[in-house]
Amino acid sequence: MSSTARPVRVRIAPSPTGDPHVGTAYIALFNYVFAKKHGGTFVLRIEDTDQTRARADSEQMIFDALHWCGLTWDEGPDVGGPYAPYRQSERSHIYQDHVGVLLAKGEAYRCFCTAERLQKVRIQQQAEKKNPGYDRHCRDLDPKDGEARAKAGEPHVVRMKVPLTGDIVVEDELRGPVTISAEQLDDQVLLKSDGLPTYHLANVVDDHLMEITHVIRAEEWISSTPKHVLLYQAFGWEPPRFFHMPLLRNSDGSKISKRKNPVSINYYRDIGILPHALLNFLATMGWSFGGDREKFTLAEMIDVFSWDRMSLGGPVFNLEKLSHLNELYIHELTEAQLVDAVIGWRFNREYLARLAPLFQKRIKKLSDVMSVVDLFFHGGELDYAPVLADMKVPDVTAEDTRDGLLAYVDKIEAREGFEPAMLEEVAREWADAQKWKTKHAFMLLRLAVTGRKASPGLFETMSVLGKDLTRRRIRAAAETIKKAAEAAKPAQAPKAK
Ligand code: GLU
Repeated sequence: MSSTARPVRVRIAPSPTGDPHVGTAYIALFNYVFAKKHGGTFVLRIEDTDQTRARADSEQMIFDALHWCGLTWDEGPDVGGPYAPYRQSERSHIYQDHVGVLLAKGEAYRCFCTAERLQKVRIQQQAEKKNPGYDRHCRDLDPKDGEARAKAGEPHVVRMKVPLTGDIVVEDELRGPVTISAEQLDDQVLLKSDGLPTYHLANVVDDHLMEITHVIRAEEWISSTPKHVLLYQAFGWEPPRFFHMPLLRNSDGSKISKRKNPVSINYYRDIGILPHALLNFLATMGWSFGGDREKFTLAEMIDVFSWDRMSLGGPVFNLEKLSHLNELYIHELTEAQLVDAVIGWRFNREYLARLAPLFQKRIKKLSDVMSVVDLFFHGGELDYAPVLADMKVPDVTAEDTRDGLLAYVDKIEAREGFEPAMLEEVAREWADAQKWKTKHAFMLLRLAVTGRKASPGLFETMSVLGKDLTRRRIRAAAETIKKAAEAAKPAQAPKAK
């Protein structure tokens, strides 16, 4: 393909919708390594066109977390570059211009269907057991009428005119050709009624304008790629080469999820995983260094990197393996490096200054400090056995107690920041909604987060402990409560035949 002759340009395109995800670091790592291997350029683009999901603090967290891992990029919103801006919310006019091109070519059309009409169509399709999708009602409107109605201010979206028949072939470099029939595709919305682009349009336009040669992204986007290929054809552009990386999985084979595994990069930082160990571990997800060698540096990976060492069976995000690699890295540090690593982690002035208000009134001698603050220096989970009997709310089943705790985690996740005032406000609302007395609800949280009945101020403790360890502990406590109740149930007698 001629694109190989162009200088290699790759990108990651995270959406700033939450905490920095290990999946982002995984994809970033492979893009970075590929770029370095080929003397290419690694771009970071922020895909924030879905304003309902974008979160103000998320973008910076992504930068910080990737930097903590040891990854850097050559172009991006924070470092600039020749293809700026690198934040899609600052590129609206570009997408609008490009939609204009597709409309003029007859490759797209304006759709004036209201939400009510689309809802009716959906209900009808369900009743007739047909595949859901847009019924192409506006596809054959006279484009001149469409333009006039748009000029008159009638709300509308712009849709892609997907071919009605034929096959679309996606050349996936890791899988070979993937063919799908055009009939399976809907007339995708390209521009929403608020004038903002959808993911498909913005992604294709930007990859083209930013001269991306290789799209290395997660497997979950593979179903979008035929639409992207059609868009490249509609514009008359050469598509980049596509590599869809295998999804990281929980140990039960499902897609990695926060309910089963911590997915925030910051969690691994906070439990004391070394960045090199995390990168090394991510590198082994589907990719093999050669032989059965599992421990290697980033430089060594770049040196031997090739795609034929990739296997597509879903790699399992195995925390024991990560912990084992981390142990090897720790054992290898010089004493001076180890001291630096521990100081950088939590044994530092800054962190002690945050802890001081929590322990000052609770110690008589300096040597009492450790017994008060040890819970801040534990990894993710605590041993709940000594307090399990107290982890309950009167008249509430273990299952409802578990669900209640998980509901609190969901509520704090939906908020920005992690300040005590916010945590308390959410906790009060949550306890009310659960119809639990505050004193019971707060004790349950305290036991989950600290493993003790008495601790420094609950919400201050959560805040200083950090979002990731707090969430992990509450989730672990919730599951422990449920499992203990199940284990205590008398085994059901087998049914008589
Ligand atoms: N914005 C998408 C994401 O959040 C980008 C997917 C892609 O790389 O095309 O991952």
